[in-house]
Amino acid sequence: MLPARFEYHRPTTLDEALALLAEHGDDAKVLAGGQSLIPLMKYRFSSVGHLIDVNRIPGLDGIEESGGVLRIGALVRHNQLVASDVIALSSPTIAAAAPQIADPLVRNLGTIGGSLAHADPSGDLGSVMLAVGGSVVLRTTGGEREVPVKDFIVGTFQTSIEPDEMLTEVRVPTAGARSGGTYLKLERKVGDFATVAAAVCLTLDNGSIGDAGIGLTSVGLANLKAEAAEAALRGASPDDEAFAEAGRLAAEASSPASDVRGSEAYKRHMVDVYVRRGLARAFEMAGAA
Ligand SMILES: Cc1cc2nc3c(=O)[nH]c(=O)nc-3n(C[C@H](O)[C@H](O)[C@H](O)COP(=O)(O)OP(=O)(O)OC[C@H]3O[C@@H](n4cnc5c(N)ncnc54)[C@H](O)[C@@H]3O)c2cc1C
Repeated sequence: MLPARFEYHRPTTLDEALALLAEHGDDAKVLAGGQSLIPLMKYRFSSVGHLIDVNRIPGLDGIEESGGVLRIGALVRHNQLVASDVIALSSPTIAAAAPQIADPLVRNLGTIGGSLAHADPSGDLGSVMLAVGGSVVLRTTGGEREVPVKDFIVGTFQTSIEPDEMLTEVRVPTAGARSGGTYLKLERKVGDFATVAAAVCLTLDNGSIGDAGIGLTSVGLANLKAEAAEAALRGASPDDEAFAEAGRLAAEASSPASDVRGSEAYKRHMVDVYVRRGLARAFEMAGAA
């Protein structure tokens, strides 16, 4: 099918893009990699009067680390995350997830900003950001605000972004010394969306678990942050018993639906397995660090 009629804008500066959003608001959409938006428009699940293609705006595709904060521009493609030494050094959870997103063609075009703004419960980067405590920077012509991803994702394909706001940057606390993290994804075939996936990270503090993060993919109406499991891990001894309890609590917090990919019980069981396994791997990495 062909998309409904729309006006195409191709701003070359951020100010120009923000002015277009301010002018057209509810009737406009930002076009980044187009990997989710274009199919939606073609099937007419989405139609907008104004499409604002932000791909020609310079300065939105950088990856930098300074002062314990990793800054990732909204237009950074999934494949840039895969190839980045800064990501490999600063965030093992992002580094583990990026090569598992979709297939090489989609990874060449899809962006981190588009992925988070799309808020697909099966999206990988939302869960990663919930685990690592990431936040997004939202800009308007009047200024900017920083919103933790746990407050940004509010439901299925729903975020707290306002119609005149553009997501410009993702900020993530750098994984410190004695930290580890990973992303475990069950998919029917390579390149598929997750049947179940778990993002985990963990930091050791004097032999105990200082902090831990767990995000879950495809097991609820949105990416889920397993807060009870995270709380149980804080201050605990990093052993099989603590990881098993976290796995149990994460499975309890998930609410998967039975479908062609698996039954609810199977998916819940896989959450338990992946959280336990992921934490053990993160602990190994933290010990080695
Ligand atoms: C075949 C296929 C397989 C896939 N498999 C996976 C997978 O396994 N895991 C996974 O996580 N994803 C997967 N995806 C989705 C992919 O990661 C997309 O790239 C991503 O969801 C959207 O990013 P995008 O840059 O293409 O955004 P677009 O499609 O351009 O936009 C998506 C939405 O975000 C909004 N938006 C985009 N950028 C901004 C911005 N800077 N500020 C405000 N709003 C913005 C748009 O207006 C639109 O509503 C798959 C996609 C395809 C086509």
